[in-house]
Amino acid sequence: MFKLENIVRQNVLQMKPYSSARDDFKGTATVFIDANENNLGSLAGEHYNRYPDPHQHKLKSRIATIKGVDPKQIFLGNGSDECIDLLLRMVCQPGKDALLNLPPTYGMYEVSANLNEVHIDTVQLTADFQIPVKQVLASIKPETKLIFICSPNNPTGNNIEPESIETILKNFDGLVVLDEAYIDFADTPSWTTRLDDYPNLVVLQTFSKAWGMAGLRLGMAFASVEIIELLDKIKPPYNINQATQELAQNALGNDEQLKYMIEETVQERELLEKALPALAAVEKVYPSDANFLLVKVTDAEALYKHLLNDGIVVRNRSNLPGCENCLRISVGTLEENQLLLQSIAEFNV
Ligand SMILES: *Cc1c(COP(=O)(O)O)cnc(C)c1O
Repeated sequence: MFKLENIVRQNVLQMKPYSSARDDFKGTATVFIDANENNLGSLAGEHYNRYPDPHQHKLKSRIATIKGVDPKQIFLGNGSDECIDLLLRMVCQPGKDALLNLPPTYGMYEVSANLNEVHIDTVQLTADFQIPVKQVLASIKPETKLIFICSPNNPTGNNIEPESIETILKNFDGLVVLDEAYIDFADTPSWTTRLDDYPNLVVLQTFSKAWGMAGLRLGMAFASVEIIELLDKIKPPYNINQATQELAQNALGNDEQLKYMIEETVQERELLEKALPALAAVEKVYPSDANFLLVKVTDAEALYKHLLNDGIVVRNRSNLPGCENCLRISVGTLEENQLLLQSIAEFNV
C-alpha cells in the first residue's frame, strides 16, 4: 500500500518552510517596508522591485483552467528540471535511497540523482523502447523511492504503453514520476486525468517545448494535494520569477497560436518521417509522438560532423544504450528541414 508519509524524508516532514513576508501579512496596506526591497523603483521596469508571488496564484489558476486540474494539484518549478530535483530530495535520503531509471531516457534524472547522492538502479527499455514490466517490478528494492518514466520518451520519441505504466503504478509503493514534456505533440491523453486514481502518480509537463518558452524556465508537476504541499514546503520561495509569471500568463491566452505551432510541427515531422528513409545514410526512422525524431544512420559520428560542417547542429545519441548510430533531430521549420535533408543527401557522395 502506498503511503506518502512512509517515503518522505524525516527532515522534510519535520522542517518548517521559509515564511515570506507577504505570507504573514493578511489585509490591505499601501506601505510595504517589510522585505528590504527598493521602494524607489526598479532599473528593470515597473513591479520588478517587488518579490514575486511565491505561490503564483494567478498563473496557477489559469493553468488549472487550461489543464482541467485543481490549482491545489499544481506545483510550478524553475523548469521541470527543478521539479525532478525537488521530488528526489523530498523522498530520497542521500547515500541510502535509490531510484529506478529506464534508459535510454532523459539525462536529468541521472544527473539529479548523482548530485543528491541517490543510488541509480537501471533497467534498459526493450528493443522497441517499451518497458520490460516484469524486470522493473523485480528490480524494486526497499530503498527504491522513485521510478522515472518518460512518455513520449526522450530521445526515442515513442509513447510508453499505458498498460505498463498502470501496472507499475499499481505495484510500486514509491512515486511514479511520469514525464510528459512532449505530451502536446502526442495523440494520447495526459495522465493528469488519473491523479485521483493513483496517489503515487506525479505528472511532469513543461512550457519549454510546445509552448515555446524554454527561455522562461517554467515547468509543472501535477499530483495529489499532499505531494504538492510538500513540494511547496521545500522549494526556494521565489523560484518562479515575476517576469516569467507575467509572460506566461499572457501567453496562456493564445491557444490559437499554440494549436497552430503543434499542428505545424507534427506536419513537418510527418514530412521528415517520409523523406528521411529515402536517403542512403539513413537506416531507420523510429516512430515519434514528439517534436523530434530518433534516426539510425550508417555512421552517426561522421554524419554528425558532416552536418556541423554545413552549420546544422543535431544531437548524437550513439552512446546511449540501444541507440547505436542514432542521431536525435528536432523538427525544424520547413526551410531548416529542407537544409537538413539536402545535407544528409550529400553525405558520402
Ligand atoms: C526538455 C525536457 C524537459 C524540460 O525541462 P525544462 O526544465 O522544463 O525545460 C523535461 N523532461 C524531458 C524528458 C525533456 O525532454
